[in-house]
Amino acid sequence: GKLNELKIDDTSKPASKNLDVISEFNKSDNKRAASFVVVGHVDAGKSTMMGRLLLDLGVVSKHTVDRLRQEAEKIGKSSFHLAWVLDQRTEERARGVTIDIATNRFETDKAIFTILDAPGHRDFIPNMIAGASQADFGLLVIDAGTGAFESGLKGQTKEHALLLRSMGVSRVVVAINKLDTVGWSQERFDEIRNQISGFLTATGFQAKNIAFVPVSGLHGDNLVKKPSDAAASWYSGPTLVEELENSEPEARALTKPLRMSIGEIFRTPGASTSVSGRLDAGSLQTGDTLLVQPGGGEAFIKSVEVNGEPADWAVAGQSVVLGLNLADQVEMRAGDILCDPAQPIQCHDTFTLKALAFDVLMPMQVDVHRGRLHAEGRIEAMTAILDKMTGAVTKKKPRVVKPGTVARVVIKLGAKVPLEAGQRVVLRSGGETVAAGLLE
Ligand code: GDP
Repeated sequence: GKLNELKIDDTSKPASKNLDVISEFNKSDNKRAASFVVVGHVDAGKSTMMGRLLLDLGVVSKHTVDRLRQEAEKIGKSSFHLAWVLDQRTEERARGVTIDIATNRFETDKAIFTILDAPGHRDFIPNMIAGASQADFGLLVIDAGTGAFESGLKGQTKEHALLLRSMGVSRVVVAINKLDTVGWSQERFDEIRNQISGFLTATGFQAKNIAFVPVSGLHGDNLVKKPSDAAASWYSGPTLVEELENSEPEARALTKPLRMSIGEIFRTPGASTSVSGRLDAGSLQTGDTLLVQPGGGEAFIKSVEVNGEPADWAVAGQSVVLGLNLADQVEMRAGDILCDPAQPIQCHDTFTLKALAFDVLMPMQVDVHRGRLHAEGRIEAMTAILDKMTGAVTKKKPRVVKPGTVARVVIKLGAKVPLEAGQRVVLRSGGETVAAGLLE
């Protein structure tokens, strides 16, 4: 009857198998898993490329794509149907139709990939920051079309690359896209590659960590299959997917204290709470107790899902969904950090940042972004200008910090948030990114 339906949230602590997670991980034949964030100027073809990739890998059906094409034709925008493959998934998620974060995942023979961001999202930069803070590498999409590359460079291409680097992403795969619009010109490809490679190395990416792939996302040329266009016969390098598979995984911080920042929270009232995110450091298993910061409440792990599959444990670098039992009155929001109560992350309202200035910095109000977390704050002081290469102090207490310089700045927040050395933080003001850097 009615009473049974009024089920209360389960607050119990589930049993633990007491596994040695690190040795379980070493034993497992874990397929490589990598997550990446897709960046690039608006209209560069990011969504189209991801839609086409999901189609060519069989993640979405031809039927779905045909339906989207018909809908797109009805409103005279037939070229957009591939971009809608991703949009559709994002909207479904926004409406709560599905809580499967797996929708932007695909698998090849060698690896499992998670697309960390829905490109083309309205609130793009904050999303990109969140994505980049969890990404193993970035996919930078460039429109090779006449004039488009040049306007992209003046536009978001540079800002996005700078943000990637500032968020600690060290590898970029550059997809030089829409080569069909320039007759697969090798000259054009080389010209763009040279310019972008010069710019990326100046931004701090090492040449060995940058790869270039010529593609046509719309036609699916050189994404999964070699280009079918005869004009592309000069190219004998890897396809985009092969290049994605080439990216060496970042060293995993398995033995560090557990840190997982919450990407999304899914609540079914009266039943359960699930959180998705990526383990930044450490490991966990079913039955573990977690501390939720900054709230300070406790949660117990009821279930673990790694890459969409049920699991007993998870380690740093993996994207997970955790089913949680919450102790009473636990406050939890996207951006919060789950950690081990024995080795908790501390909450602070003042911190020092070694920041690369994108704009003039002075004592001013700023929005502080760390992963999915946003907090209001203020630049309280600029204590030093640092040498870009050596980090040595070149000037104390500057009055202003000029764009392109690295400085040590002190930030004061309106409230205490979980912060620790080594985290990457972005400062924004009036909708613009003004600085990015590393917490000291
Ligand atoms: P986004 O803003 O970067 O996500 O770009 P979209 O994926 O929405 O693409 C912008 C426009 O470029 C759309 O009209 C696409 O059909 C078109 N487009 C994307 N990729 C290609 C391509 O490889 N070749 C051609 N000719 N057009 C493309």
